Amino acid sequence: MLTSRVLQDARTFFENRGTLGLEGTAMINKGKGLELVIPRQNARRDAFGSVNVEVPRAGQMDLALALGPDELYVARIHSHPGNAFHSPADDANPVITFEGGISIVVPYFGLGLRRGLDACAVYRFCDGSWDELMAGPDRDRWIVAEESS
Ligand SMILES: [Zn+2]
Repeated sequence: MLTSRVLQDARTFFENRGTLGLEGTAMINKGKGLELVIPRQNARRDAFGSVNVEVPRAGQMDLALALGPDELYVARIHSHPGNAFHSPADDANPVITFEGGISIVVPYFGLGLRRGLDACAVYRFCDGSWDELMAGPDRDRWIVAEESS
């Protein structure tokens, strides 16, 4: 169950990056509750408008330090400038490689989250690769968003 607070935090962060034409990436930490953890990151935009974002060593340290003893990262969430899908780079990203890990791609520099999780692409790591969970019952088995109040 994704809390509305985590989704709101993600949306705010992605939209802020989007004002600069940049993607953002973050992780969702599960301890007592869920928490969005935003690592230091290098986002780039070239002269043609191609964008990418990477988490350097310092950002990987941020992620490691944010994790308490009984906590783990259950999901990665990142924004795209346009449509939400897993790029080859997303497939190859080693930040989550455990069975059942979730990856969420938010379209339109985070604006898509105004329409909720259904507007996002969601993948689940299974048998060594990422399976897309289409919005609906197949997805809801693994991940649902709390109704925002
Ligand atoms: Zn991506």
